[in-house]
Amino acid sequence: MNQHVAPTTGCAERPILKERGQREVFCGLTGIVWLHRKIQDAFFLIVGSRTCAHLMQSAAGVMIFAEPRFGTAVIDDHDLAGLADANDELDKVVDRLLARRPEIKLLFLVGSCPSEVIKLDLSKAAQRLSTRHNPDVRVLNYSGSGIETTFTQGEDACLSALVPSLPDEAEGAEKSLMVVGALADVVEDQFRRLFETMGVGPVSFLPARRAAEMPAVGPNTRYLLAQPFLADTAKLLEKRGATRLAAPFPLGAEGTTTWLRAAAEEWGVDPARFDAATEAGRARAAKAIERSRAQLDGKAVFFFPDSQLEAPIARFLNRECGMRLTEVGMPYIHREHMEQEFALLPESVTLSEGQDVERQLDRCRQARPDIAVCGLGLANPLEAEGLTTKWAIELVFTPIQGYEQAGDLAELFARPLNRRTRLKV
Ligand code: SF4
Repeated sequence: MNQHVAPTTGCAERPILKERGQREVFCGLTGIVWLHRKIQDAFFLIVGSRTCAHLMQSAAGVMIFAEPRFGTAVIDDHDLAGLADANDELDKVVDRLLARRPEIKLLFLVGSCPSEVIKLDLSKAAQRLSTRHNPDVRVLNYSGSGIETTFTQGEDACLSALVPSLPDEAEGAEKSLMVVGALADVVEDQFRRLFETMGVGPVSFLPARRAAEMPAVGPNTRYLLAQPFLADTAKLLEKRGATRLAAPFPLGAEGTTTWLRAAAEEWGVDPARFDAATEAGRARAAKAIERSRAQLDGKAVFFFPDSQLEAPIARFLNRECGMRLTEVGMPYIHREHMEQEFALLPESVTLSEGQDVERQLDRCRQARPDIAVCGLGLANPLEAEGLTTKWAIELVFTPIQGYEQAGDLAELFARPLNRRTRLKV
């Protein structure tokens, strides 16, 4: 039964519409699509059903290369009959995989709805397999199940599994910066150069590109979240002594500048040096956004909850592209992590948390936005009703963070509006 909860007062005293009803969101397995490309010697073994395998194949379809770094150990009827068998089967699958692929150094056993339903204990399996394949391969586990995770929470679960295995900071280590959240390599390189120019460092990234290069953590670690969906990872880093630098997320020129500034201030960088280091990037971003601005200015956008990137993208579209915000829906709200984003959103926008899809569709129809950002399942019906849509999943698969990508981010929204205008002509 759907439950509807009236607006309550939330972050920065803003009313938030909370809904708990039917949702239309991918499960956390989807995160494997970008994570397997990021950690180059890792393998993601989904312990799941044929449905899970199909989801992964269609989500990652265009990106599969000769030796994919993910696969599915399919739980079948035989496994459902007895857990002992399921564990034996899993061990055999892993032995075969590691014998055939000696380049794998980090193996994630990824839980799914079926593995949860039969209560297969993947943390025990990971410990057992880690001992068995020690020291060549480290085996970790996390859940990407649709019962426990939405879309981008899969990355949070994966990084949370990594945090306890990160090395301790060396005794008397200097203050260091950790950027947390998977970013495209090109974006990571740009940020690394910017921090270097400002004199902020040493800088590390979580996840690192290789298993042996995962960063150390401890009380001298300051961390910046590069993604807004890493609540559990953040909690675990803090448990290990790290301190979060509060900032908006690095989307658009404004978000990138304030995000970089949070680190610069922590390192006591002279404001003139900060301006000099960021000036060219800011100018390039403003120029690139300008190309789409004419198309976006004054247009209305509505966000269904999906990727958890909704608030920072809404802030960018509103403040840098001149778009009007109607509703910004988020799957869940982490108050502390979102505080700085919400402070930059106009008072008039409806913020909602969770979903009751039918009610939200009604609000969207009533708002008649120029563009609705939603999951794949809602896009076709909305398009059929004459609304222009943007698939939220594209925003996660495309590099959009940092100065050099700000123009692409604006264009992702300008393009469907352009297409709609051409169709009308
Ligand atoms: Fe479906 Fe669950 Fe598998 Fe995700 S984990 S594909 S929701 S069965």
